[in-house]
Amino acid sequence: MTAGITDSTQAGDLLATWEAGLGRDGHGRALLLHRAARPELGGDHEALLALPVGAREADLFALRRALFGERMQVRIDCDACGADMEFDLDAREFARTLRAPDESVVQLTEGGWDVAFRVPTVADLTAAARHPDAAFSAGAARRALLARCVVSAERDGAAVAVDVLPEAVQKMIAEAVEAADPAADVTLNINCPECEAATRAELDIASYLWAELDAWARDVLLDVHLLATAYGWSEPEILALSPLRRRYYLELCADA
Ligand SMILES: [Zn+2]
Repeated sequence: MTAGITDSTQAGDLLATWEAGLGRDGHGRALLLHRAARPELGGDHEALLALPVGAREADLFALRRALFGERMQVRIDCDACGADMEFDLDAREFARTLRAPDESVVQLTEGGWDVAFRVPTVADLTAAARHPDAAFSAGAARRALLARCVVSAERDGAAVAVDVLPEAVQKMIAEAVEAADPAADVTLNINCPECEAATRAELDIASYLWAELDAWARDVLLDVHLLATAYGWSEPEILALSPLRRRYYLELCADA
């Protein structure tokens, strides 16, 4: 796979994605990026939202590789000593392990409990995160997610309401969800070179990719500005240049 944004139609589409995402929150941006990753769905939001969270993460990793290559630079602060840790990840490592879940409904049978639940979709996750109480407590977001995803809950054959499921059962469900859809949470375990403590950090591919797209778009607009000023070319004309030619003209402008 050759990485890079070399096609002018693609560059125009990505600039449109970036422009649309500027005024959105993280969920809105993730949805726009997912639409760019799955063009065959023709921008069908319902279809995108109905996909399991892990399927979206896998799609976004694939898009990231296609646009910006395999090498991912990551910066994380050490939990213990605060040291700034900067390192490279190989996106191919994730591509091997990230995939959509096999099952959409999981059955949990343990200690007299019998719980059936759906693997959370993007719509479930977004709705739970936007629950009015979610901003104040992580527990509220988790309960909102359970309310959406638990299909049935029984203890010793008697139905139990979702909002009274004990903490221990909620935890079992969370673990089963993680096992069923491992791609939904990409967690990094990094050992600090200074103090050797381990730091766990989630790699949020949507925010990561958005930051890269943002930097790319601002660079492209600067190129357009410089070349339009120097040569009087229009934006479509400049975007139609291959990156190599664009760079060459920019060097000539700088030398002049
Ligand atoms: Zn440290």
